[in-house]
Amino acid sequence: MSVRAKKHLGQHFLKDESIAIKIAESLSLKGYKNVLEIGPGMGVLTKYLLEKECKTYVIEIDSEAVEYLQANYLNLAPRIIEKDFLKYDLNEIFKGEPLAIIGNFPYNISTQIVFKTLELRDQIPEFSGMFQKEVAKRICSSEGSKVYGILSVLTQAFYNAEYLFTVPPDVFDPPPKVDSGVMRLTRKENFSLPCNEKTFFKVVKTAFQQRRKTLRNSLKIFNLSDSLRANVIFGKRPEQLNVEEFINLTLLIENDANE
Ligand code: SAH
Repeated sequence: MSVRAKKHLGQHFLKDESIAIKIAESLSLKGYKNVLEIGPGMGVLTKYLLEKECKTYVIEIDSEAVEYLQANYLNLAPRIIEKDFLKYDLNEIFKGEPLAIIGNFPYNISTQIVFKTLELRDQIPEFSGMFQKEVAKRICSSEGSKVYGILSVLTQAFYNAEYLFTVPPDVFDPPPKVDSGVMRLTRKENFSLPCNEKTFFKVVKTAFQQRRKTLRNSLKIFNLSDSLRANVIFGKRPEQLNVEEFINLTLLIENDANE
């Protein structure tokens, strides 16, 4: 018996086990023992995680998939969490301990998964898995690229992001409409944001909401002084700034507000 795919849960089950193996091997397993897989489905990736030197947990929203896992992976049963990842407080289980996140993720909530990871970054040294290719590419892209945006800057402020490989639709059941991409995030150690985090997020989001405009125009809501607005950086567009420049921009805006 297998699980009937449910579209609203973003269910595309991986058929090609060699890809599951490659994803499982993308984690370094260094500096943590807990691994949390989001959306295990019928366990194609879980099976390979269970062979590794780590403590594997899975979080799955679909009760039919949970029943399947309970029946087929007896050793895993105590570490199956039947919850919505986006709503679940991870510290009910992990109590502040570090964990890596992995998965062939539900693509309909990819961005929210990344944002939740960023919020919990102090606890998440590594994150690896599959998204729709466009999202994986965006997260890993550099300034100047067409797909560089909010997700790229905010993720790369805290993590080194690597695009690993592309996966075609025909290795899934049912096949998704788009290509998929596997990526890995490795947290930058000994890094702390030198500016206010809320302001940084707001600057990046506001700038990219009007990505064709110069920062002088898109960042008007920050009530910048004339002298700051004259700074050359404000003549640029958001896709021209790397992460460090966005941090410096935030510092300039903060100092301007204090004057
Ligand atoms: N890893 C499996 C399944 C991938 S499909 C495989 O590769 O075959 C995505 C999975 O995420 C589905 O099993 C779906 O039920 C689950 N899912 C969807 N939304 C979720 C959420 N909010 N929290 C946890 N799991 C979710």
